[in-house]
Amino acid sequence: MSSPYLPLTRPTIDDATIAGVGEVLRSGWITSGPNVKELESKLSAACGGRPVRVFNSGTCTMEIALRIAGIGPGHEVITTPLSWVATSNVILEVGARPVFVDIDPVSRNIDLERVEAAITPATRAILPVDLAGLPVDRDRLYAIAKKHGLRVIEDAAQSFGSTWKGRRIGACGDFVSFSFHPNKNITTIEGGALVMNDEREAKLAEQYRLQGVVRSGFDGMEVELVGGKFNLTDVAARVGLGQLPHLEEFNAKRRELVRAYFELLEVPAVLELGLQLPPADFSQTNWHMFQVVLPEERLTLRRADVMAKLHAAGIGSGVHYPAIHLFAVYRRLGWKEGDVPIAERVCRNILTLPLFPAMTRGDVARVVENLTAILQAHCQS
Ligand SMILES: *Cc1c(COP(=O)(O)O)cnc(C)c1O
Repeated sequence: MSSPYLPLTRPTIDDATIAGVGEVLRSGWITSGPNVKELESKLSAACGGRPVRVFNSGTCTMEIALRIAGIGPGHEVITTPLSWVATSNVILEVGARPVFVDIDPVSRNIDLERVEAAITPATRAILPVDLAGLPVDRDRLYAIAKKHGLRVIEDAAQSFGSTWKGRRIGACGDFVSFSFHPNKNITTIEGGALVMNDEREAKLAEQYRLQGVVRSGFDGMEVELVGGKFNLTDVAARVGLGQLPHLEEFNAKRRELVRAYFELLEVPAVLELGLQLPPADFSQTNWHMFQVVLPEERLTLRRADVMAKLHAAGIGSGVHYPAIHLFAVYRRLGWKEGDVPIAERVCRNILTLPLFPAMTRGDVARVVENLTAILQAHCQS
């Protein structure tokens, strides 16, 4: 009998959470309410007591951070081309210009060595991404930001539960944005959180979250800025409250599975194929994803064919991500092939393999066996 299909990822939701969602649905209050408040206070406790507000995505969180920082038309924001397109779409959304800086081929994160050369008088912020949960060097990042008077919006969508020098991502820094999309390490179905510096920013975030409304007394209402409709429902917040206590256990399971990936992939027969593995970081990353880079020169198959063959073997895989600057919207702004060559090469060849807490070591072995067989059959020396 063949094994069941192994998806790229899958959330783990326990029965207590499902029962809790039922209670919220029966309670008479299903949109933003007490569960949102409780989730915010628990997230704040997890982020060193800093102010946290939750939203209905990890995209609007970054847009709102940019707005609070006063970033808009005429301004530039430095970011990475290797991310989910949300990272730079929010920069366009507020009317600013994204400036893509090439990546470090080992960490696959923005290359901080190259950031200062991209700073102009119009630069207002740096928006780095912790790809796959591997933290960008916070010491160097903030040294650059401080030297040039720039704001930082950390796109930590993938790094909830990761640490930098022993401190939780979110516990320090400037703006920190998390996503709770179902693919992330914990989920609220859709949702996100923004960690801010003070109550003034948190109050602004609340206004941007809901039509700019400020209420007072029984009947007072004022609107001083144009906000959107970005609030999280209590149903979603209840899912998050059920997920949060499992974060460490989920991340420990991810680490254990990744150790198995390394054990099985770091063998001469595989390494000599030229497959590139991620940095083996077991102290700081939450292992949001396990990504390999295929050996472009030696492979006689396209990445899509590798994915099709894995799919035929009952194994899901993914591409995280195509290079953002080469999408039509960004090409129209003048970006082109060759602008950030290291990122382009990695983006052409990167492949995400299945990784989620409910997987087993046997699943990892099955992925490695199939991937190795495909590469061995289609690699020239
Ligand atoms: C998931 C993700 C986002 C966006 O989060 P949503 O909650 O889907 O809006 C942004 N940036 C990165 C790097 C992500 O992985």
